Amino acid sequence: MTPYYRRMRPRRTLPVALALAVALPWTALSAADAATPPTTTTTGTLLEVAIDDHDAPTSTWVLEGDDGSLTEVKVPTSLRGAVGAPATVTLDTSTATPTVTAARPSTTLTPQVSRPTALHAYVVDIVDPTSSDTTTLAKATATTKSMESYWVREGKGGITSFDTTKAISFTQANACDMNVYELWAKAAAKFPGVAWGWANHLVVYLPSDCAYGWTGLATIGGGYMMIVAPDLPTTAHELGHNLGLAHSNLEIKGKTYEYFGAFGPMGFSVNDYAPGTLDAAYQEQLALPKAAAARRTLTWGSTTTVTIAAVGAGAVNSVKVTDPKTGTSWFFEYRAGRGPDAKTFYATQYPFLYGPAGGLVDYRRGVQVSNLTSGGLITHTTIAADETWAATRKGEWFVDRGKRLAMKVVSTTATAATVQIVTGGTGAATPPRWTREGMALPVVVVTPLATKVGQKARVNIRVIDASVGSSESYAVPRITIDGGTPINVKLDANGRATWTASGPWAKGSYPVQVYYPGRAGQSLKANGYATVVVTP
Ligand SMILES: [Zn+2]
Repeated sequence: MTPYYRRMRPRRTLPVALALAVALPWTALSAADAATPPTTTTTGTLLEVAIDDHDAPTSTWVLEGDDGSLTEVKVPTSLRGAVGAPATVTLDTSTATPTVTAARPSTTLTPQVSRPTALHAYVVDIVDPTSSDTTTLAKATATTKSMESYWVREGKGGITSFDTTKAISFTQANACDMNVYELWAKAAAKFPGVAWGWANHLVVYLPSDCAYGWTGLATIGGGYMMIVAPDLPTTAHELGHNLGLAHSNLEIKGKTYEYFGAFGPMGFSVNDYAPGTLDAAYQEQLALPKAAAARRTLTWGSTTTVTIAAVGAGAVNSVKVTDPKTGTSWFFEYRAGRGPDAKTFYATQYPFLYGPAGGLVDYRRGVQVSNLTSGGLITHTTIAADETWAATRKGEWFVDRGKRLAMKVVSTTATAATVQIVTGGTGAATPPRWTREGMALPVVVVTPLATKVGQKARVNIRVIDASVGSSESYAVPRITIDGGTPINVKLDANGRATWTASGPWAKGSYPVQVYYPGRAGQSLKANGYATVVVTP
């Protein structure tokens, strides 16, 4: 039942820029200036290109000249602030890929969706007589149409309509071997006068047998898309990049895994499952009016119980709270696997993926907790025993790694989840109690009592085992002192015991381990640790 990433293909590097000087006025290098790198200054817009290679996602950069040329360039980190706005750009042209040495934006960027907008697609199907391409113009047009419908729905009032203004075929031999930026420029030239960006998107379909490692390219906040895999998940994802969105990632034990935030369109696409609804944090990034109306913002330092509807206008669809100390805005939404999410991967019976850390990630329905970073959206996981849950389920707590925020899923229905959110501290949060198979996760709390030299040491033990019913018994834990022989301890009906040493102890520190073996077939094992300090 393990899903596979259908769009993984053998890797091949991106075709590198072969002919750079397509349209830039290169400065001649005089003999006297031989020590100075040759530079040129021009005007245009720097764009980040997201390369969707599921093995190794990466970015490159292009300069979109005012004349419509596209040139691959290197952009040092210090100049990335100029990306996305019209600018005066200086390039060091001494290397095969020119390096930007200065970029002065001529305007400042404003949020892209400041008012509802109509979007337009310009479809180009590359017909390559040398290939065994199966992507027809009809297929390209139909795929684009499904992508447009997806984004009108997910645009939530920010995208008023999305049409295909023109769809053409374009014959190009050996298209797979061409520089993709040159191909973009050639395709764009078929639509003179169109300004590519928020409103106008150039959607180029390459031959389906181009054997790249990547399945699609797009420009972050730009208007260019290049598609190898002609399907809704790929096109919806690339359009998301054009709208300025980065990837959806998953946090597991403090590490972030790119693409594994697989609820919305900006994570992995698995098989042919539909992309899920746009994540709440991205809805806010795009300032979507209907999403804003359905978002409830909490005040930090409070305990609030709120019901979040999975879908539906007029209800609360997401909750946001901002940590004033870290500046992080947290978002909570209910992934119920119904309505627009019914045909997604996570709504299937076995929504498990092998994570890059080697463990299984369980995407079953629950409350998604996420935040935005400069590197994209991060969905935070709940760890239950050795299981990683991408969403938090009924009866369970999510606690952030900084222990500044906790959220309990109080109850769920088919369409809504009631959650309690505690901010400014984690309140009564306890670890998750159930695994995916319904096995209880016990917790062992070991508390040494004060002991002086010559006294018998005492240790309080408490076992929390959710599988124990009112007339049932706990399993028998074993206490080990300083690596010695394990000793059985009998717990009372409440899972508590006080263990007393058989004789007086000398001054020193004694490590104590309490092992709880779990009830047969009902709960998992657990360990608790403490140190007994014997003082004079
Ligand atoms: Zn991407």
